[in-house]
Amino acid sequence: MALSAAAAIRTAASNQVASIRLPPIPSISDLVKLYKLKAIKQLSQNFLMDEKLTGKIVKAAGNLKNGYVFEVGPGPGGITRSIIMKNPKKIILIEKDKRFASALNHLRNACPPETLDIYWGDVLSFEMSKMIPDEARRDWMDDGIPPIHVLGNLPFSISTPLIIKWLSAISSKSNIWSYGRVPLTLTFQQEVAERLIAEPSQEQRSRLSVMAQHLCHVYHKFTIPGTAFVPKPDVDVGVVKFVPREEPLIHRNFSLVEKVVRQTFSMRQKYCRRGVATLFPEMVRVWFTQEMFRRSGVVTTRRPFELEMKEFASLCNAYAEICREYPSLSDYNYRGFNPDEEWNSMNGHAYQAFVLEKQEIRELDPGDPEP
Ligand code: SAM
Repeated sequence: MALSAAAAIRTAASNQVASIRLPPIPSISDLVKLYKLKAIKQLSQNFLMDEKLTGKIVKAAGNLKNGYVFEVGPGPGGITRSIIMKNPKKIILIEKDKRFASALNHLRNACPPETLDIYWGDVLSFEMSKMIPDEARRDWMDDGIPPIHVLGNLPFSISTPLIIKWLSAISSKSNIWSYGRVPLTLTFQQEVAERLIAEPSQEQRSRLSVMAQHLCHVYHKFTIPGTAFVPKPDVDVGVVKFVPREEPLIHRNFSLVEKVVRQTFSMRQKYCRRGVATLFPEMVRVWFTQEMFRRSGVVTTRRPFELEMKEFASLCNAYAEICREYPSLSDYNYRGFNPDEEWNSMNGHAYQAFVLEKQEIRELDPGDPEP
C-alpha cells in the first residue's frame, strides 16, 4: 500500500533519528583506565567493575525502559552503563566527586541527546522532584507505580542516614514521592541489609527494620561479595529494594514514630517498658509509662525486638494521645536537646501538682523481675 505524504515524512524522520551514530559505550574498566580513576579509600569509594553484577542491580530495580532513573553516587559509571543499556527516557546522575566528570561525560555522549543529565552535589540535600515532567505522576493509591526509579551504590556511611531521610520523605509524600510510590534500589553493608528486612523476634530486628517496613515493602534482592569491589571493602554488600506501601502500618507522623521506636530500642535486651520509660521526664516517668501500657495494651515485659508492628502502632498511638493531652511532654528528649534539667526548668512547675497527686505510684509492676 502507498504511503501518504505525511506518513512518508514521519518515516523518513524516524529513520534519520535511528541512523544517528552514537559512539559505542565503553566498558567500565576501559573508562577507569582511560581517565586514570582511582577509588579514594578515605571517601569510602569502592567501584563495582563486574558488568554482570551492575546488570543484576539494574534488573532488580525493575523495568526501566522509557522511565526516569535517578542514580546516586555513580562514580566512574559502572551501574550507569547498565542503566543506559535498558533505554530509559531520562537518566539523572547525582555525584559529589567531580573527578568522575570525564568518564560520566563520555557515557553521556554515548546516549541519545538529552538522555543523561549530571548534577554535582550532595545527594543528602538534593531535591529530585523538580526534574520530572508531570506526565510521570501517579496517584499514590493507584496500583500503578510511577515510571521513576532511584538506585545507587553509595558509601555505607551515607546510605543509612539517606534511607532514614528518604523514609521521612516517603512518609510525607514529599521530594520525588510527590510523584507517587517511587521504588528505591540501594546497596547497604550486609548487616544493615539484614536489619532492614528482619522480622519480629529475629536477632537483627531493630529501629531500622520497623521504620523501613512500616512505610515500605522491603526486599533483600541479593548479596554481592566484598571481593567484587575495587578496592575490596571489609564486608559483603546487600542490594535492597523498597516499594512504598499504599498505607503505612503506623498512622502517625514520621518524627513521632521515629522517637517512640528509637527510645523503645534504646534498651534492646531489657523489657520494653524500660526503653518506653525514657520517653518521659524523670519527674513524671513512672506514671506516664504505666499510662502508655494501659492505653496501648502492650505487655510491659516484651523485649523490643519481639514487638510486632501492631504493638509499635499501639505504643505510637498511646504516645500521640498522651502528648495531645500534655503537650509539653513531646518536647522532652532523654539524651539530646531538652533533657531532664531543661525540661524541668521549662515545664516542671506545671507538673508539680500532678506529681504530688500521682506520687503514690512509684513502682512499675513491682513483682516483675527486671532482666
Ligand atoms: N556507583 C559506583 C560503583 O558502584 O562503582 C561508585 C560507588 S562508590 C561506593 C560511592 C560513590 O558515591 C562515589 O562515587 C562517591 O563519590 C559518591 N558519593 C559519596 N557521597 C556522596 C554524596 N553525599 N552525594 C553524592 N554522591 C556521593
